[in-house]
Amino acid sequence: MQYGGADGSSHAESSNNLYSKHELKKRLTYLQYHVTQEKGTERAFSGKYYKLNDNGMYACVVCGEELFSSETKFHSECGWPAFWDVVDKNKVTFKSDLSHVGSNLLLLAIKPDLARTEVSCRKCGAHLGHVFQDGPKPTGKRYCINSASLDFRKDENICSESSENADKNKETGDNVTK
Ligand SMILES: [Zn+2]
Repeated sequence: MQYGGADGSSHAESSNNLYSKHELKKRLTYLQYHVTQEKGTERAFSGKYYKLNDNGMYACVVCGEELFSSETKFHSECGWPAFWDVVDKNKVTFKSDLSHVGSNLLLLAIKPDLARTEVSCRKCGAHLGHVFQDGPKPTGKRYCINSASLDFRKDENICSESSENADKNKETGDNVTK
C-alpha cells in the first residue's frame, strides 16, 4: 500500500487534527469510529436515523457542527438518511471518490455511476457519506448520510413537513463573519 500523490493529500488516513485517535476510539462507538474515521458505511436500513421524522438538526457526531436540518430530510429508498441539502455548503467538503473503481479506469467509462462524491465534515474531517444527483427538488441532490456519523438534536422550532414558515422571526444578529 502506497500513500501520497492521490488528490494531493499527504495524510494517510484522516485529515482530522482536532482529536486524537485514542480519544475518538474512547468516545465513539465502533461503528461511529469506523464510518467517520475509516470511511466505512453502515448497513442499509440499519441506521438509527433512517426513518426518523422528528424536527431538529443533525450534527457531526465527532465535532458537533450542525450539518443537516430535518427540513431537508426526505424519505429515500436507499436505506440511509437522505437530505436534499446541507445547512451550509461551507460546512462540508466534497471529494471525488473512486474507491469503487480502483485502478480500473475502463470500468469507470462503462459504469460512470461508480464515481461517487464523498461528503465530509469540513471542521473535523469526519466522513459522512456521499452525495448523488438524483434527489428531489429544489436542489436535485441526494445526500446519502450514515446515521453513525450524525448526532440528532431535537428542535421543535424546525419544521420537517411543511416549509411554509421559512422566514422565522427570530433574532439573527450573528451574521458577523469577519
Ligand atoms: Zn465534524
